[in-house]
Amino acid sequence: MATSIPTLDDVSLAGKRVLVRVDFNVPITDGRVGDDTRVRETLPTLRELAGAGATLFLAAHLGRPKGPQDDARLGPVAERLAELLGREVRYAPTPGPGSSEQQEFVAAAPEGSITLLENTRFDPRETKNDPALAEVLAGYADAFVNDAFGAAHRAHASTEGVARLLPSCAGRLLQRELEVLGTLLESPQRPFVVVLGGAKVSDKIGVIRNLLGVADTILVGGAMAFTFAKAAGGEVGDSLVEDDKLELASELVAEAEEKRVRLLLPDDVVCAERVERGVDIAVHAIGAIPDGLKGLDIGPDSTARFEKAIRAARSVLWNGPMGVFEVPPFDEGTRAIAHAVAAMDGMSVIGGGDSVAAVNAIGVADRIGHVSTGGGASLEFLEGRTLPGVAALGSVPWR
Ligand code: ADP
Ligand code: MG
Repeated sequence: MATSIPTLDDVSLAGKRVLVRVDFNVPITDGRVGDDTRVRETLPTLRELAGAGATLFLAAHLGRPKGPQDDARLGPVAERLAELLGREVRYAPTPGPGSSEQQEFVAAAPEGSITLLENTRFDPRETKNDPALAEVLAGYADAFVNDAFGAAHRAHASTEGVARLLPSCAGRLLQRELEVLGTLLESPQRPFVVVLGGAKVSDKIGVIRNLLGVADTILVGGAMAFTFAKAAGGEVGDSLVEDDKLELASELVAEAEEKRVRLLLPDDVVCAERVERGVDIAVHAIGAIPDGLKGLDIGPDSTARFEKAIRAARSVLWNGPMGVFEVPPFDEGTRAIAHAVAAMDGMSVIGGGDSVAAVNAIGVADRIGHVSTGGGASLEFLEGRTLPGVAALGSVPWR
């Protein structure tokens, strides 16, 4: 793989007690797991380890609890995981990592069993990456497998800390995320077209900067297009603009020219007075939006231009919806782009929480090459940053 961290191919875990960090941060409604994508994505790693005869202890967080909280317990996830695996998953509600209840529960695990540990964030030491908590977790196992790409950008006790104490490697999901995203940054098939959207330029500055060094074309939609349009002297009406980022937008445009990257803005946008179903809409040029109107989606001409660029691409990376896709009719641009990305020949990759939700809602996720499970983690990776949960893997020698 692109980086030199060890994977399951490099180690033997037969008969070992293995702590596996997974990303089970899923929506829970009325005690049931909603979208279980993240749980399903870890199955290959869990099946492989279980098949090798390892005894598994799964560590995961859910939400941002302020200590043990019944609504943040992992019980519903344990049930869903047991259904998906078709076998028993041991789970007991305990006060959290390091509690004597949890230690007893771990000590009682039969060989070859799978135990889901309670929400790691029930212990405030988790997010502080407290070495004392990492010690407790390391004490549960002989080795550590990190498969939680979605949490790899956080240096927490169960992601980074424990990898400094146990021999460790990447699980299959983490491995695939790093391979796919790493290939885009290092040696993409060209033309490499990046589609960026979403609410704020400020959230994506690092990503734009880094991708200017590798992309052939960057298509900018979503609200961030208005900051670019205003910086270029356009009238953007009441559209969402970050006035403190106008200079930055001009700098990024200049940088794109210098690096010969095509940076395309929408030329037309769908506007309305408010974000509301059934409200009157009108299409205006992006630099001539009347006062009182907000640009809420890319217009038909821009959609056609973006589709054409996507069709011609051999790699596409998409992050950020083209408009306020939550409220029809402002979902049309995002829908069209989702279909174009799904239909292109070559590698398509989608990252970002809302973008992934959009392709799932539109129903094209299964035609996308890779749908990243990490929102923040995929953005940080695309910024070219080292993810602490990844950097720590392999730091303790395997014997
Ligand atoms: P991701 O989670 O995929 O990285 P972001 O969080 O950056 O995406 O952006 C998603 C949000 O951007 C959505 O809630 C969407 O409504 C909003 N958005 C997109 N276009 C516009 C627009 N023109 N005006 C206001 N909000 C927009
Ligand atoms: Mg988002």
